[in-house]
Amino acid sequence: MSRPAIRRLRLAVAPVALSVVALVFVGRWLNATKVGGQQPAEPFRIAGNFYYVGASDVAAFLITGPEGHVVLDGGYPTTASLVMASIAKLGFNIKDVKVLVNSEPHADHAGGLTVLQQASGAELWASDASADVLASGGDDPDGILPIRALIWLGVIGRYPSPRVDHRFKDGETIRVGPVALTAHITAGHTRGCTSWSFPVSDGDRVLNVVSVCDTGVLANSQYVEQTADRERSIRVLRSLPADIWVTNHARAWGRYRKFVASATAKNPVDPFIDAEGYRAFIDAAETELRQGRTH
Ligand SMILES: [Zn+2]
Repeated sequence: MSRPAIRRLRLAVAPVALSVVALVFVGRWLNATKVGGQQPAEPFRIAGNFYYVGASDVAAFLITGPEGHVVLDGGYPTTASLVMASIAKLGFNIKDVKVLVNSEPHADHAGGLTVLQQASGAELWASDASADVLASGGDDPDGILPIRALIWLGVIGRYPSPRVDHRFKDGETIRVGPVALTAHITAGHTRGCTSWSFPVSDGDRVLNVVSVCDTGVLANSQYVEQTADRERSIRVLRSLPADIWVTNHARAWGRYRKFVASATAKNPVDPFIDAEGYRAFIDAAETELRQGRTH
């Protein structure tokens, strides 16, 4: 190649290289500062020892017990401080959180787990498939390559990897004293997507709670067994008795509407009792599957 040709090539390559570098740095900065559009939300008791401690949309739950508490999901890396403020506002100590569990390992639900783990010293339990993604800080092998490349570069979806202390199998129950959460692998959104069921005592009632892992599928995260997994997940969810149901995005289960209704209800728990809403949510997930819709 002649000298002028090399010079031309350099001139052509330099802006591309510069924009890649700029993209990475701007992306990292955005990633570090963003809360995913999350606003603080008032924490509240849903029923008995079961509380909402999440942000305006990305959910986090606290299940308290005499031998230690459990926190389900951590939001984005920067949402964790909102979760901790909510736990404190309810009068609980983050140091009494002994176990962390997760719905699925994307950054909007797992990103804050490391901060919560460092503040509490809690042990993190995860399904096998989720454990690998958590340990890698958000790199899901089922994601399409361009997305994974952006994750590797730290532009999107990357979070400080938490320490996975225990792995569980489908149907296992995680216990902290009398608190007992049963894991149901409801794969589809991700391979290790975990829904949780547990009883909550409220007054003289025992209410069955189901926390559903996201049922939607992302266009940029698909795998061969996905449709079969979703079919199975819908069957599993239908088989779980649910008086109270929630999912990892608060808008999907009507957090705010139920919270507002609870303030004026005769029994503040009643607005959260919603077996019908649970069935409607699963029906909608099934319709989405039949129509092949992705997000
Ligand atoms: Zn997700």
